[in-house]
Amino acid sequence: MLNFTVGPVMSSETVRAIGAEQVPYFRTAEFSELMLENERLVKKFAHASDDSRVAFMTCSGSGGMEAAIMNCLNKTDKALVVNGGSFGERFVELLALHEIPYKEIKLEHGKALKPEHFVPYEGKGYTAFLMQKHETSTGVHYDINLVSDFCKRNGCFLIVDAISSFLADSFDMEATNTGIMITGSQKALACAPGIAVIILAPEALKRVGENHCCCQYLDLKLALKNMERGQTPWTPAVGILRQINVRLKEIEIMGGAEAEVARCAALARYFRDKLVEYHLPFEIISESLSNAVTPLHPTTQSAYEIFLKVKDEYGMWICPNGGEMKDTLFRVGHIGCLTEADYDKLVDAFLDLQNREFI
Ligand SMILES: *Cc1c(COP(=O)(O)O)cnc(C)c1O
Repeated sequence: MLNFTVGPVMSSETVRAIGAEQVPYFRTAEFSELMLENERLVKKFAHASDDSRVAFMTCSGSGGMEAAIMNCLNKTDKALVVNGGSFGERFVELLALHEIPYKEIKLEHGKALKPEHFVPYEGKGYTAFLMQKHETSTGVHYDINLVSDFCKRNGCFLIVDAISSFLADSFDMEATNTGIMITGSQKALACAPGIAVIILAPEALKRVGENHCCCQYLDLKLALKNMERGQTPWTPAVGILRQINVRLKEIEIMGGAEAEVARCAALARYFRDKLVEYHLPFEIISESLSNAVTPLHPTTQSAYEIFLKVKDEYGMWICPNGGEMKDTLFRVGHIGCLTEADYDKLVDAFLDLQNREFI
């Protein structure tokens, strides 16, 4: 199977080898050291300030989103949230659930964030801003600098869901004054799912310290206290944290975050050029693309039917969409352990489907 989805994605051989090993006991100096090394490399790759901290939570990326909200926001906040797809919608649902006052900047699917979207909210006392760096459901990569400038002008605490974007698109936590960023183990980190990685800048640490978190399992105070010695309050997904360690070191050896971003960008470019070269009947619908994924609207066949056909008859997964986008959009990912030759195989499958007059 070749996997072109956006998570879980293809893992390297070294990462997969860890998955086959016995899971070791973890209340040891060796595991603590590994965790502190994970923290150091994640901070480095995100360009976080030295005094930032990292929490590794055993949950999927969505658990990280909820932890960020529960630990950093409360009812005295006034939040602004970008909602341009299913992950923006998830932030909205979480804000409503936790009774944080909010307004949403609602964007049509595929549309970029523009300066005029901010105008109605200037100087209106907003205290927090939540965004996906890349809205994975529609494949729109938002301009974080626009958001960052708004937040600096208005004194907003910035929460960035970079779950599908970290290591696929460049990101500078300190330069953008991001308060808290979230990613997950199964996207560009290319490990098994199960760990949410949360980086907290000093402003976030202050908020966590002053906030009352109404959930023991997701309490970042406990996670951060334990992480001082490279540990977690509860049994973490030890095997995945070991995979993350191998993977981070692999990226470091290959030239760091910038090299990994360039690798994803080159794969994305390779695939997009092929689409044009072969005149495949797919339209790119996003106004602003991430390197992580190419969102495609097929003009001659249901997107979901194409996903099924490619999976069942060619042994490859492209990424289907759900809900109202089920028939109109599928996505091809560029994160994980993929090569140009893999895209050649996918394009061959599309061409074959065209010959068979399926698309
Ligand atoms: C994948 C993803 C999530 C959710 O992650 P889960 O691990 O499925 O909970 C949230 N936000 C974005 C932008 C994502 O791409």
